[in-house]
Amino acid sequence: MDLQLNGKTALITGSTAGIGLAIASLLAAEGAAVTINGRTRQRIDQAIDEIRKAHPQANVSGIDADVSTAAGCEKLIAAIGKVDILVNNAGIFEPKPFIEIPDADWDRLFQTNVMSGIRLSRFYLPKMLKQNWGRIIFISSESALQPPPEMIHYGMTKTAQLAISRGLAELTIGTSVSVNSILPGPTASEGVEAFVSQLAKGQKISEKEMEKQFFKTGRPTSLLQRFATPEEVANLVAYVCSPLSSATNGAALRVDGGVVRSIS
Ligand code: NAD
Repeated sequence: MDLQLNGKTALITGSTAGIGLAIASLLAAEGAAVTINGRTRQRIDQAIDEIRKAHPQANVSGIDADVSTAAGCEKLIAAIGKVDILVNNAGIFEPKPFIEIPDADWDRLFQTNVMSGIRLSRFYLPKMLKQNWGRIIFISSESALQPPPEMIHYGMTKTAQLAISRGLAELTIGTSVSVNSILPGPTASEGVEAFVSQLAKGQKISEKEMEKQFFKTGRPTSLLQRFATPEEVANLVAYVCSPLSSATNGAALRVDGGVVRSIS
């Protein structure tokens, strides 16, 4: 299937690793001119090398900017005046008991996971509306629908993304611009792999055993009963980025391995 992404420009935040990198790599493979983003030049250059190794024709460049701050978003905006596709992917998580989460952590997760997408959408959406084509995608989470008791602050940010995404979609009425959210389930990204490896070491079991245990006790409703790969998530994102998804707008689409036990 030709996703018709040739000639489209795309910006993916937090894309030097994990789900963001997989999205950037797939969009580049499909012919989009991709800008990746991370906080350090070194990680960006590594990610660009990785993408070019897999797809020698890839049109890919990168901008180092910390999107958790207004200044970081301004830096991105100053470098890229217009994009066809914006993927608000950058996001952080950290398990912490509710009573131990200080105000500063609530704010840090909100700034990184929510305000980054707000600031960039506020700049790029009007330009998409003007050219009457565009895609904004928020990488939310199954945690938006099933707030994780071990990190309620993270769940709050992921639910907030759904509200913003649907609200922005309302502003696109009658145009060829769409705004959607993608809800991955547990995915073996760099961040999650490091977390699982740390837990496995602590319990003196293998990472495979830890994964089995995590799904048995932590995510028993998962139908996949394993971590999804970042590439499996990227496949859905690439479709939503494509002109082929023109009738999908204002949606919250799950690629969660069936972990959310709901048919709506
Ligand atoms: P990851 O930790 O593997 O990678 C995150 C990337 O974002 C890295 O490239 C990192 O350098 C970059 N980044 C982090 N903070 C940044 C900042 N302030 N400015 C610029 N770049 C920054 O993450 P992941 O697991 O691939 O998660 C990506 C998104 O997917 C997040 O929004 C996360 O909430 C969501 N998600 C992940 C999972 C999962 O299980 N991995 C599940 C559901 C949703």
